[in-house]
Amino acid sequence: MSAPFVRAEPDATIGILGGGQLGRMLALAAARLGFKCHVLCPERGSPAFDVVRRVTEADYGDKAALDRFADDVDVITYEFENVPAETATFLAARKPVLPDPQVLAITQDRLAEKDFIVSLDIATAPYAGVAAEAELASALATVGVPAVLKTRRFGYDGKGQAALRAGDSPAMAWRAVGGQPSIVEAFITFEREISVVAARSHDGRIACFDVTENEHRNHILKVSRAPADVTPAVAAEARRIAERIAQAFDYVGVLAVEMFVVRDGAGHTVLVNEIAPRVHNSGHWTIDGCSVSQFEQHIRAVVGWPLAEPVCYGRAEMINLIGDEVFGYRQWLETPGACVHLYGKQAIRAGRKMGHVTRVFPRG
Ligand code: AMP
Repeated sequence: MSAPFVRAEPDATIGILGGGQLGRMLALAAARLGFKCHVLCPERGSPAFDVVRRVTEADYGDKAALDRFADDVDVITYEFENVPAETATFLAARKPVLPDPQVLAITQDRLAEKDFIVSLDIATAPYAGVAAEAELASALATVGVPAVLKTRRFGYDGKGQAALRAGDSPAMAWRAVGGQPSIVEAFITFEREISVVAARSHDGRIACFDVTENEHRNHILKVSRAPADVTPAVAAEARRIAERIAQAFDYVGVLAVEMFVVRDGAGHTVLVNEIAPRVHNSGHWTIDGCSVSQFEQHIRAVVGWPLAEPVCYGRAEMINLIGDEVFGYRQWLETPGACVHLYGKQAIRAGRKMGHVTRVFPRG
């Protein structure tokens, strides 16, 4: 459990673990509300460092640095889910850490996460845990092929994943994921991928943004569109699922739930793929497309302020600028209605998210 929570006043300091673009956009939203931010992150020159009052460049295991960080802040949150559990627990003994670190233990492990989702009577792709190579054949027999093998921990943007089609060698797939404890999932032929970004406050109020439709390229999010082109029944089911998960965690802050929409006779089934206990790339459109962004909602929730009821200005499309696509920013600067966001990252690498562009098409 976290240290007791006290509602923060403007000019309080929010501690953010992680200094990537999500931390940067959280800090920008916090600044607009009058808060100051202190970011702790091990990587030199992290994108969030440019926009905050104070920076601690230290490892997550550096207890002296964590102590000084905790002393300087009023409340602590995080921008990525792989904060080591010991770091979160150490900090939670000193200052409130939100969302509660218990959420991390579940969402850092794909098997624990899927078991948790299923325990809430929410559907996922058929899956089975694989602790060792010898278990892979029987796990595949359970879920069927084609399938996807995913490491239980530290996988993102398709990293630590291997596809398995009929006739493929399980041994090769096992090697491809580095022989790590994994799960194997049935490969889902989905109609579309969607996500719900939801905020939950201390008093249990939940506000969801419009259901968003996501297009991935090479396992990396490329385009998000909101609202998603889904039936009202699918949209309602997707929100219900996100709300159920947020309640079950007694969550405080913003979370995103990624889902597959599968055609099922005349209707559709919604399967949960993944929970992100943080602000999410598929919610970036809310900065320009809504009266309140996912970043502001998260800040409001963790400082104990009331959530806003999001009013969306129209149909929104968000395009990620990945790797050297960022060089095209000048063209976007001249595109009418395009809102350009650059993350200030120093090194451009293939697959690295360097910025994004949002266009909002007003209704009517
Ligand atoms: P993940 O790291 O689990 O979010 O997976 C990244 C992307 O891979 C997803 O957004 C999907 O496009 C695809 N993917 C993951 N799991 C499956 C699955 N079981 N069936 C089909 N596609 C998948």
